Amino acid sequence: MGLFGITIPEEYGGAGMSYFIYGLAMQELERGDSGLRSMASVQNSLVMYPIFRYGSEEQKKKWLPLLASGEKIGCYGLTEPDHGSDPGGMETKAEKINGGWRLNGTKMWITNGTIADVAVVWAKTEQGIRGFLVEKGTPGFTANKVKGKFSLRASDTGELVFDDCEIPEENQLPLAQGLRAPLSCLNEARYGIAWGAMGAAMACYEEALDYAKNRKQFGKPIAGFQLVQEKLVEMLNEITKGTLLNFQVGRLKDQGKAKFYHISLAKRNNVFHALQIARSARSILAANGITDEYQTIRHMMNLESVFTYEGTHDIHTLIVGESITGIGAFR
Ligand SMILES: Cc1cc2nc3c(=O)[nH]c(=O)nc-3n(C[C@H](O)[C@H](O)[C@H](O)COP(=O)(O)OP(=O)(O)OC[C@H]3O[C@@H](n4cnc5c(N)ncnc54)[C@H](O)[C@@H]3O)c2cc1C
Repeated sequence: MGLFGITIPEEYGGAGMSYFIYGLAMQELERGDSGLRSMASVQNSLVMYPIFRYGSEEQKKKWLPLLASGEKIGCYGLTEPDHGSDPGGMETKAEKINGGWRLNGTKMWITNGTIADVAVVWAKTEQGIRGFLVEKGTPGFTANKVKGKFSLRASDTGELVFDDCEIPEENQLPLAQGLRAPLSCLNEARYGIAWGAMGAAMACYEEALDYAKNRKQFGKPIAGFQLVQEKLVEMLNEITKGTLLNFQVGRLKDQGKAKFYHISLAKRNNVFHALQIARSARSILAANGITDEYQTIRHMMNLESVFTYEGTHDIHTLIVGESITGIGAFR
């Protein structure tokens, strides 16, 4: 459907479209399911973007068209079992060897992890953090499925293990230097998440509104009770504000003026309110709302992951807090 590589130039197989369009696409995918949007976010923002921004011309020509068409799927390995909010503490190491690099370490909670053909992996070298492309089937690289998730069940989540995994020199992303590189990719993905969360919220709102108009108690539709109306109005209120926030950040992004803290503000606000909306919608659906006959509880459970990944709600609070006070409160 052309949903991979939306902002990547057409010469590399992308759609060459605006960030505004990218945002709308993420909104509509997440109206279906956050897992679907997660897959598209990773492919667009965390795999194609780093290859486009930090890759060599050969890497771009080799990978971008295949990723745009969906013939190849990618994943992004930054988080580790012991380093989530603080990725700079990563322990995965890349050691220089003759003609390439040797990787050792573990990445955790990796979306598309077990289905990916190529992993963008971040590791510490003697020169600081660097990015690498590790192809499926490389000796020493294994991916294990994370099982038992109550959230994002439609999305593949994996653990990537590198045990003396040797990759050729040409698989290093030549322009990615330091922690700024992986953080810049997260910024791209967070932008799409801010839009996506509103899509999930819209789905919950529409389902709750429809249900409230049809469900009768005390002889009339529950939509006729003031308390239910207040819940619906609050939902519409926050969806309207969150969507306008997305419109403005989208315009800024297309003008090259969106700062990382604008995107943190949007991700933080929109995911928080989407989760509140999902919970409120679930309360209107009451007993019916706990079953999978309705979509609301699925969105609600999904949004718990969205609240945590790509920088938790707390971390985005600290990012915005630092930007307005000039004082970092991370540690
Ligand atoms: C379904 C799913 C998919 C994911 N996909 C990917 C992926 O594709 N690639 C990838 O690299 N990662 C991925 N992640 C990982 C995700 O980005 C991390 O889970 C997230 O960054 C939080 O890290 P953590 O879970 O280790 O929590 P921790 O960092 O251990 O945080 C625990 C709690 O402490 C709080 N906290 C931490 N530091 C501070 C502080 N300084 N001040 C105040 N509070 C603080 C946090 O807000 C949180 O509430 C995924 C996660 C999930 C759940």
